[in-house]
Amino acid sequence: MTIKFTDSFEQLKSKLSSLGGEWSEESQHKKVLRIEGGVLNWFTSTGTIQFQGKSPGLEKLRNSVPHLLYPNEFAELNNTEALVAASDEAVSAQESSATSTIESSYLLNKFSDTELVIGIVNPVGTESNRVLEPLRDRLRIFGYQCEDIRVSELLPHPSSQQDWYIRTTEYMKAGDQIRKDTGNNAILAAGVADQIKSRGQRGCAKIAYIVNSLKHPAEVEYLRRIYGNGFYLIGIHADVLRRHNFLVADKGVSQAHAEELIRIDEDERADYGQKTRDTYHLSDFFINFGNKNDYIKNTLQRFLELLFSNPFRGPTFDKFAMFMAFSSSIRSSDLSRQVGAVITANYQIVATGANDPRPGGGQYWTKINPESGEAYDVPGGKDYKKGSDSNKLAQTEIIDEITSQLMKSLAADDSERKAIEEIVKSSRLSDLTEYGRVVHAEMNALLSCARIGIATDRATLYCTTFPCHNCAKHIIDAGIERVVYVEPYPKSSAFELHSDAITPKTESVDAANTTNVLFEPFTGVGARRFLDLFSISLGAGSKIKRKDKNGYILEWDKTKAPARTPLLPKSYLDVEGAASEIWKSRMG
Ligand SMILES: [Zn+2]
Repeated sequence: MTIKFTDSFEQLKSKLSSLGGEWSEESQHKKVLRIEGGVLNWFTSTGTIQFQGKSPGLEKLRNSVPHLLYPNEFAELNNTEALVAASDEAVSAQESSATSTIESSYLLNKFSDTELVIGIVNPVGTESNRVLEPLRDRLRIFGYQCEDIRVSELLPHPSSQQDWYIRTTEYMKAGDQIRKDTGNNAILAAGVADQIKSRGQRGCAKIAYIVNSLKHPAEVEYLRRIYGNGFYLIGIHADVLRRHNFLVADKGVSQAHAEELIRIDEDERADYGQKTRDTYHLSDFFINFGNKNDYIKNTLQRFLELLFSNPFRGPTFDKFAMFMAFSSSIRSSDLSRQVGAVITANYQIVATGANDPRPGGGQYWTKINPESGEAYDVPGGKDYKKGSDSNKLAQTEIIDEITSQLMKSLAADDSERKAIEEIVKSSRLSDLTEYGRVVHAEMNALLSCARIGIATDRATLYCTTFPCHNCAKHIIDAGIERVVYVEPYPKSSAFELHSDAITPKTESVDAANTTNVLFEPFTGVGARRFLDLFSISLGAGSKIKRKDKNGYILEWDKTKAPARTPLLPKSYLDVEGAASEIWKSRMG
């Protein structure tokens, strides 16, 4: 129905005054009336009136405005919602109300009043409160109550609360011990679930449980299995200088102890040690920690707007390029990890790369037999076709060789072999990558440019991990201007070996005044949530609309905005049961 009003604005206001609401009169061309989520736009040049927005204001406007403006032509309508509710009531008389509620909540409508579980992963020495406080504040604006779950409270009390080093090392050791005693790297996640379960009202309520902090990838996997897409992991990045300084200057830790804490936190080699590096990579959202509080707040705001279905938040080019680097990584057949890279120039992707063996400048793509449709890989091509990881085999041989020679020169007996071998293993020999058959993703992308003559000078390279020292020197030599990486603990050897050519980007570095390659940590939505949060119809996120059927954009109301991927309290068995009952009662 199109309706026009061609008299003056004063007349319009007076005729609609009984509705209440608030007028926005700033624009010359459009006057806007807002009532309880509903929006009336009056276009002054054409007189056209158009309705949009949400219930109950939208219905109120649609039902009352035509009558108030033209009482002889339009009768005042009843609330259509009431009519719909009445017809639903007639149907549901045959079904249990629980069944209709399940169908309405899970299958027909968006699930808005949902709990959320937000995990935090941050390297030791990060002032996480400067992220957590604005996070809580912003969640409250979205109507959420926040509950803190502190993982350290699941562990025995340390012998000193005052001495930060003692407290932290005792917590770290206690965490390792509990993982070892139970033989379960995710045991603390079970404790987190127990804590959440014991907190008051559960189910359909706007409560965000903030879990601070997670230290092992198994904990993240465990919580994702319990809470599914309603679990979000936020990775906080802070550069090592800043963390070291915080530990020494603010927490009174000696510099040697600060170094030790940072090393242990990163990646303990022990079977049940904490592994912050691997945990960080699982994040749904990455935030870079710096001096600027406003920057942190605005970054969190963007993330929460996406989480709460703002239909107009799109990815920046950096986020898109990193997503493409992750997309590229999935073609890697490497036996240990998949790494991806892309090279961009003038906001365009010019090459992609993945860590994989390269046959003569191509890729060992999986092929399809045109006759049988069977998928196959070239014999002896990908590592799995060879049966082993050549780098791991070479490392083991070298470690064996050194251990045997040490045993001979120390005249050690066989009972001492394991201890000697452990010492050799704990050295940087275990970090060797030289004997792998794969070309690293960064080199793969650079060589793709070289093969077909694309300039890499002043280009940007995005990589899903921090480039190794070997790739770093080639990146510098190729003239790359900027490198964006995902990594909480950038390996220092690249920075130290090439301090003349690489500058880590921090707040103190003026990007315009350096000719060095800038290495910058990635921030924003991680690849695993890219489709869920940015796609309006694909991915696990609920579908969102950007315009009404008349082509006008829909208003986004943050106080009522539903989570894109809510936490559903019913299992698929309950929902399936409800759907089955509905089918039988309505069709039977
Ligand atoms: Zn490399």
